[in-house]
Amino acid sequence: MVNLGRYRPVGETENMNLGNPFGLPGEWFKGSLHIHSTKSDGDRTPDEVTAWYQSRGFHFIALTDHGVLSQSQEPADGLLVLNGMEIEGVDPQAGLFHLVGLGLRENPVLDQMSRTSMREAQNRLLAAGGLVIIAHPYWSGQLSKDLLNLDGCIGLEIYNGSCEVEDAKGYSLVHWDDLLAAGRRLWGLAVDDSHWHHGSQDAGLGWIWVRSETLSQEAILAAIDRGHFFSSTGPRIEDLRLEGRDVFVRCSPCVAVDFIGRGPHSRRVIAQAGDCITQVEHRLDAHQQYLRVACRDKDGGWAWSNPLMNVGSDANAGN
Ligand SMILES: [Zn+2]
Ligand SMILES: [Zn+2]
Repeated sequence: MVNLGRYRPVGETENMNLGNPFGLPGEWFKGSLHIHSTKSDGDRTPDEVTAWYQSRGFHFIALTDHGVLSQSQEPADGLLVLNGMEIEGVDPQAGLFHLVGLGLRENPVLDQMSRTSMREAQNRLLAAGGLVIIAHPYWSGQLSKDLLNLDGCIGLEIYNGSCEVEDAKGYSLVHWDDLLAAGRRLWGLAVDDSHWHHGSQDAGLGWIWVRSETLSQEAILAAIDRGHFFSSTGPRIEDLRLEGRDVFVRCSPCVAVDFIGRGPHSRRVIAQAGDCITQVEHRLDAHQQYLRVACRDKDGGWAWSNPLMNVGSDANAGN
């Protein structure tokens, strides 16, 4: 069951392009959702951090210091700052965990985190009015099954730049596919988790492009809640359309386009040597349970769509 976050207006239903922003009205806004500053263990001040992202063409960021709730700022000189924070604890089963909360109304009460389960921590962030994202599960050491009961989270970090450049544990794609295969609709987010310990080497590595009509905290959070974004470490997905069982993808020049589903229901399309792909068609298996698209450019950068659930004509049969 998809999490119906607080940003979902009453009356909206499942057939509202959940997870697919392409073809929706609005503009694309580039955002970075996991950033630290001197308010916790980062080495740059919030002002230095916002200036860095603004100078790189970002439209919005979230400051997510450990245990410190940042304040939102409506666009000043073009950069929207969402409020947020990162919390951590030790779950009796899952062990160490981190969660990111965005758009919180208040600082959640989080004492005794060493004895707070991941689910309880999730619920406290929800009670504080936020969207909750599972941070870097591969780096934390969680198994996919540890995350199955987090039914209030909207997504997980599928790419965490800091975890990748510091510890080679940035990609959590298997966790994502395991949860999708289990029927959990979770969005996939690419983030920096920038700490600035070595200059800006862990900044500007992973981001999301959000489709929204306006650049405000409410509109951007509502779009993220609905999965109206794609994640990237470089390339862009230009279009993703589903007509019956036929999938059409357009992207910036890439060397491979992946159509990923449950188990073996997947396919990689590779460009001819020295060539690039900018559009691909693919026919879904009738039993396809979900579909997500990933595009890789010649420099090794990725763009990841969000999953479209129950896409095969027989996907619901036997469920
Ligand atoms: Zn973390
Ligand atoms: Zn962090």
